[in-house]
Amino acid sequence: MNGKKFHIVIFIIFIISIIGIAIVQYQYLRIGLNLAKVQFNQKIGLAVNEIKEVLGQSNELTFLVGKAITKDDTYFKLSIDSVYDASSYFLNDFLKEKLLQQGIKSEFTYTLYTKDTTEYLLSPKSYNNEDTLLKYQIVLDGYLPSLVKKRLILELQFKNLNKYFLSQLNGLTIPSLLFIVAILFVIIWVLKSFYWQKNLITITNEFINNLTHELKTPVFSIGIASKILLEKTENENKELVSLIRSQVDKLKNQIEKVLELASLEGKRNFIERKVIDFNPVIINLIKDFKKIATMENIQFLSEVKGEIYMLNCNSYHLENAINGLLENAKKYSNEKIEIALLVFQEEKRLIISVKDNGIGISDNDKKNIFDKYYRVSSGDVHNVKGYGLGLNYAKRIVKLHKGKITVKSTLGQGSEFIISLPLIKNEK
Ligand code: ADP
Repeated sequence: MNGKKFHIVIFIIFIISIIGIAIVQYQYLRIGLNLAKVQFNQKIGLAVNEIKEVLGQSNELTFLVGKAITKDDTYFKLSIDSVYDASSYFLNDFLKEKLLQQGIKSEFTYTLYTKDTTEYLLSPKSYNNEDTLLKYQIVLDGYLPSLVKKRLILELQFKNLNKYFLSQLNGLTIPSLLFIVAILFVIIWVLKSFYWQKNLITITNEFINNLTHELKTPVFSIGIASKILLEKTENENKELVSLIRSQVDKLKNQIEKVLELASLEGKRNFIERKVIDFNPVIINLIKDFKKIATMENIQFLSEVKGEIYMLNCNSYHLENAINGLLENAKKYSNEKIEIALLVFQEEKRLIISVKDNGIGISDNDKKNIFDKYYRVSSGDVHNVKGYGLGLNYAKRIVKLHKGKITVKSTLGQGSEFIISLPLIKNEK
């Protein structure tokens, strides 16, 4: 799967997860609402029993309500309207208290009426007709119906119960909504900084690319100039000119390395490959390194087992990678340098091992040395220049050849870098 497809898949999983969480939350909410309704009905049932019992008796409240519904103003020295209002309020307070005792805080209205729908008493407050109301009817018995000699019904009306239930569930809905929003916020923030960082890396690479290209021309000119100068110089200055020349060569190599890496960065998954016999390439590489080893007093041992190594490869990059390993073996060394290059076939793979008796690498550093720009912090023990690019380059190249690069190393004793590449069938 390439990078873009992977991003799309991750994005789809993210969207599905968020929708999934929202759906699950919605279902929980629905279950919660239903439970709240069931609970509400149970509470109403209990409240209704008590209301029915009290209103069935003859007491101060039913006496007052009785006077109002029979429009009898003889007992109280008040107008019948005042009696009506007073009983409406008292009944309201009584019902409110009974409902509250059962934990029902929802607003309500009521109507006291007979079967032939003559309204006897209304609550002080009333709802509009268009409101959808949940109604509970209580058929009264006892004192009040016997007064009017008709079936009396007390109807309790509740408005907007869903809103009321939701407010009861707020303890759950609001935190879960907040958590979803928080998760979204964090994920978006992470994604944003990820893309920002990626952008920054691209910009940095472009900058390095441009800079190294700019450096190449003057370095090349100095190289040619110093070469001509070296041929012409015969006196004691020759040593100085030759120093300039060797340092320019080093600089050229470093620039090449950075450029190679930057060009790999652009076309991540592609280098041109050809099927060739890699054996002569290795033989040449060994020949060249032998010269350096002799010049620099390095004990170099090489062994190439087998004759033909057919590889589908880019020999230029592969050779660079191996040279990099040899260079490192030389760089990270102790006094007496011993380097061994071993090439052999193991099953259907070509194994190239570069072994040294150098400073070695700790287990902790082993995990990171293949990372770009990573260098083992040397303290003041040794002082070797580098950019932490060589091993990263080698790893990328080997990976592009569908191979593997591993390291075995003991601190203070030496290291062995092993490249393993898939061979293709020899058809020569
Ligand atoms: P550079 O050599 O430019 O620092 P590399 O990517 O080639 O970058 O190496 C990364 C680090 O791995 C080096 O800084 C060094 O500490 C460690 N290293 C690489 N090769 C060896 C080796 N043969 N022996 C010990 N340490 C090594």
